Formats: sequence, structure tokens, C-alpha cells
Amino acid sequence: MNPSYLELLGIRKTFGDALVLDDVDFTMREGELVTLLGPSGCGKSTLLRCIAGLSDLDGGRIRLGGRELTNVPPKAREVGMVFQSYALFPNLTVEGNIEYGLKMRGVGSAERKKRSEELLALVDLEEKRNAYPRHLSGGQQQRVALARSLAVQPKLLLLDEPLSALDAKIRKNLRAEIREIQKRLKMTTIFVTHDQEEALTLSDRICVMNKGRIVQDGTPETIYSEPRTEFVARFIGSYN
Ligand code: ADP
Ligand code: MG
Repeated sequence: MNPSYLELLGIRKTFGDALVLDDVDFTMREGELVTLLGPSGCGKSTLLRCIAGLSDLDGGRIRLGGRELTNVPPKAREVGMVFQSYALFPNLTVEGNIEYGLKMRGVGSAERKKRSEELLALVDLEEKRNAYPRHLSGGQQQRVALARSLAVQPKLLLLDEPLSALDAKIRKNLRAEIREIQKRLKMTTIFVTHDQEEALTLSDRICVMNKGRIVQDGTPETIYSEPRTEFVARFIGSYN
């Protein structure tokens, strides 16, 4: 499989005087789930926003599936994103939310219906197809958000702390569900979290970030047993 399906080279991002992403290099294989783990403010969301095209780069370049993305507008990037708080359309049903992106792309109603039925089954919400977001639990809303981002068949899925607004028990269940769906679809996925346990249990690979840099990149086992810096050791060790 292509070892550099996603390739970030020398990514730099500043806000005013603050250097928020400091020369980030990063590659991913197709079908891999990589967790970006780091404390609040280290630049995780900014990095995802740059990949999705929601933030401009101050330096560096991005390639996905052999295609240069750097100057491609967000809608044309084939990148799906789910945020911490469910940004569903409140005036659309579950089905309407899932089909929205397809409608925007001019997909006909029969095909939309077929695709949304598959996705409703995938996230186990067939019974809620006609419900509005306000009548769903937080976990259900995040499953709709996931289905909605998968509907347009992205090449890359970005999950920005998708579980952090949920209760502990729901968080654990949904974490396992996301991993299962990701494996089933072989969806190349970046999962962002500040939660060590989440990262250690979910990932093929973990990139630990601090102050705008990736300070260690390895398997969960390596990160846990051979932290390379005092920062990584402390950050992983603070997990309880
Ligand atoms: P994380 O997701 O790891 O918590 P962020 O990427 O959200 O971190 O933020 C990294 C740094 O960039 C923080 O210091 C934050 O205050 C700053 N930052 C993020 N977005 C903006 C913005 N739009 N304007 C100014 N500063 C920002
Ligand atoms: Mg963030």
C-alpha cells in the first residue's frame, strides 16, 4: 500500500506573532488510523484545518493520493471532517443531514437515498432517519456527523476530538464503533485527542504533538514504553 498516501511537508502556520505549526512533516499509509495526541493549544485543530483547507498555510505543502492539495479549495479536497460539537443542520432530519453533501454535488435522489440507507445501517440509526438533531442524544448526533462526512466518500477522514463532549460510557462505546467502521471501510483517518487512553487504545500509530511540532511518532506500544522526551513521558504518564 502507498506509504505516503497523505504527505505533509514543512507545514508552517502563524497567527500574528505566534508560530502555531512549526515545520510539521507527516506521512500516512492508506487505510491507517493515526492519532494526533497532545495538550490543549499545541496546534492539533489548526493542523486538521490546514489539511481540510479551512486555514491557509504560511509554508509547506500537502499531497493526498498523489494529488497536490495546497491550493485546492476545501470542497474539492475529498477530505471529511467531524468536530467536537455536533454541527448538524438543525432544520434537517437525520436523513437530510446525511444526504446534504450529495445533494450539493448534484447526486440524484435515488442514489442519495441508497447511499443514506447504507450509512444509516453503518452507524446503526435506521430507526432515526426522520428525527431532527434536537431529538437525538449526543452520541447519536456524533454518529450522524460521522455518516454525513462519509457520505461523499472522502479519501481522508479527520476527527477532531469527536468524543470529548460525551459521557464516559458513551465515549468508550462510540470509540470502539468508530474504530470498527474505520477498519471496515479501510478509511484513512486522523483522530485528534488530548486523551491518552483514547490514543493508546484506538490507534495504529500515535503522533505526539507539543508546541506546534510532532515530538514523537510511533506505535502505541513504543510511545508508551519508550517515550523519547521528558515531555512525552510526562504526558503519557499523566494518564490515569
Ligand atoms: P489544539 O487543537 O491542540 O488545542 P489549536 O490548534 O486550536 O490547538 O490552537 C493552537 C494555538 O493557536 C493556540 O495557541 C490557539 O490559541 C491559537 N489559535 C488557533 N486558532 C487561532 C485563530 N484563529 N486566531 C488566533 N490564534 C489561534
Ligand atoms: Mg483542538
